Amino acid sequence: MAANRVQLQAGLSMLEFFDLYGTQEKCEEAVRRWRWPQGFVCPACAGVEYSEFRRARRLYFQCCACRHQCSLISGTIFESSKLALPKWFVAMHLITQSKNGVSALELKRHVGVSWPTAWLLKHKLLQVMFEREECRQLTGRVEIDDAYLGGEHHGGKPGRGSPNKTPFVAAVQTTESGAPVLLCLAPCPFTKVAIEAFAAKSLVAPATLVSDGLGCFTAVQGMGILHEPHVTGGGHASVQHPQFLAINTVLGNLKTAFAGTYHSFGYMKYAHRYLAQVQYLFNRRFDLSVILIRLLRAACTTLPRPMQALRAAEHSS
Ligand SMILES: [Zn+2]
Repeated sequence: MAANRVQLQAGLSMLEFFDLYGTQEKCEEAVRRWRWPQGFVCPACAGVEYSEFRRARRLYFQCCACRHQCSLISGTIFESSKLALPKWFVAMHLITQSKNGVSALELKRHVGVSWPTAWLLKHKLLQVMFEREECRQLTGRVEIDDAYLGGEHHGGKPGRGSPNKTPFVAAVQTTESGAPVLLCLAPCPFTKVAIEAFAAKSLVAPATLVSDGLGCFTAVQGMGILHEPHVTGGGHASVQHPQFLAINTVLGNLKTAFAGTYHSFGYMKYAHRYLAQVQYLFNRRFDLSVILIRLLRAACTTLPRPMQALRAAEHSS
């Protein structure tokens, strides 16, 4: 079964991880390889002749042509961080190998940093995942559903329209037989205008949107996307509905993961980033042995994000 193939794969063990990335030098070499696969290229003049030096133990390069200096991590998500690279790598390893995500509190303990540092570390890595998944598009058979984050601890009533909850859309591209392929999640009010914008960004024709018939999903008609509503009547029967097996499995796992990992967080403000993490890990679930490398490569090509940008309102891309 596909689920077992995902769950039982070997991934990257802690011993293998430390063997590959257990020292500052090994981490530097990995970042260098992904930043400049063909060798150093000066960001100012594209020159390739350079010299190296260290300042406060940090590795710097100086261009021989224009004398521009840059550090190994400048211009990447690691920039302006005082954290040693091995700590970043441990955080990336924990985040990519965990099934349910890792809270900032767990990172604090495992990486050995203060809580504010762990928060920043985590949100910078989530931002990398968000930007990597921002252009994700689904096609073919797509199951869609409306769902909510949060609200459980604030007296919010269950179901649609509850207060203290962040609405989001979950869409799963499946094979014709209903096996999940790719996931797309986005904070989104359940209005026709918002669903139309989501579809324009995230769905590519030819596509068939399989929904439970919620009115806003009809917005895709006229966009070259077929809409296949199945009115389920809600409740337990709707969860078991064969047309929604993929989306219900994904949403069930997501709910369990969030309940177990995060007790509370600024759902409204950071929902896009937490959802992007779920989406990123899901869409790379078939090869856990290289997912760290893929996140590292993305981190090396993601621009620096200072604290203010990360704390700003949603979609701070
Ligand atoms: Zn130069």
